[in-house]
Amino acid sequence: RVAVRVRPLSKRETKEGGRIIVEVDGKVAKIRNLKVDSRPDGFGDSREKVMAFGFDYCYWSVNPEDPQYASQDVVFQDLGMEVLSGVAKGYNICLFAYGQTGSGKTYTMLGPPASVGLTPRICEGLFIREKDCASLPSSCRIKVSFLEIYNERVRDLLKQSGQKKPYTLRVREHPEMGPYVQGLSQHVVTNYKQVIQLLEEGIANRITAATHVHEASSRSHAIFTIHYTQAILENNLPSEMASKINLVDLAGSERADPSYCKDRITEGANINKSLVTLGIVISTLAQNSQVFSSCQSLNSSVSNGGDSGILSSPSGTSSGGAPSRRQSYIPYRDSVLTWLLKDS
Ligand code: ADP
Ligand code: MG
Repeated sequence: RVAVRVRPLSKRETKEGGRIIVEVDGKVAKIRNLKVDSRPDGFGDSREKVMAFGFDYCYWSVNPEDPQYASQDVVFQDLGMEVLSGVAKGYNICLFAYGQTGSGKTYTMLGPPASVGLTPRICEGLFIREKDCASLPSSCRIKVSFLEIYNERVRDLLKQSGQKKPYTLRVREHPEMGPYVQGLSQHVVTNYKQVIQLLEEGIANRITAATHVHEASSRSHAIFTIHYTQAILENNLPSEMASKINLVDLAGSERADPSYCKDRITEGANINKSLVTLGIVISTLAQNSQVFSSCQSLNSSVSNGGDSGILSSPSGTSSGGAPSRRQSYIPYRDSVLTWLLKDS
């Protein structure tokens, strides 16, 4: 699922005469290229153009008076509730906020105290569920961890190193349990207040680090992970179902400015590396599921006597009209971000 959200103009944008050129119409976001005066050199296109992009959800959050205004709760009702129903079924889940610095990622994921965002709302949802569970034979356990990836290095946001320089943790891969961060602190929580306390502690640590390393918070990925274990009965035998929710506030997607000093360029290159890898991983996963479904539709069209020759394989290795059943390689390990989220 992909959602897009339009935030109000900032004070600076308004002061500089900025105008909103995005419109939301159901599941379509339209971007209007404002008519510009034709330039004397004849370069560029002066015609007004509208580009339309389809999404699973489009949120207009510019003006609370607007009837189509999407509040934090509207966003939660769609995206947060889907996370909660997935986790109840035992799925591992990732929710990413992607966009340039200042586009509203942190507002949507965490939000100001007066209007909290997805992360606290999802946590709250888990505990309401847990209370409901109390009347059932099954019970739930929740553990949380909070980390930050900066320059391909992992830092625990819930454990003070006691040193000025933040220490980094190693990512390793267990043959059965999958990728994990060695030495990352895990915190058992039994109520909503405890989760919020940990969340606030982690955010404070992130900000402290940001003052040591200039603007680091918009240059790092923050992952808040909720480990959710439910006691279930399987064939009348007591068993456990474990799932994870990863709530990810990604680093700003803007390009590194070549006029930055060398350190900033290294940062930019590392952010790009993980965001580019994330893009490749997601599109390869989507492509592989298409290969899978086109194999299924090929099978059904063959059995219906249909013309299978028109189906082409996304990987382009088909011969004799049959789509390739080979799944493309997914480069999870090309960045720490995608490696850590591999099983989700
Ligand atoms: P990012 O995390 O992507 O860098 P922020 O979430 O910090 O961006 O948002 C930048 C600014 O815009 C903040 O001052 C924030 O309060 C404001 N903002 C973002 N989204 C909204 C929204 N939906 N409604 C009102 N203000 C918003
Ligand atoms: Mg932010």
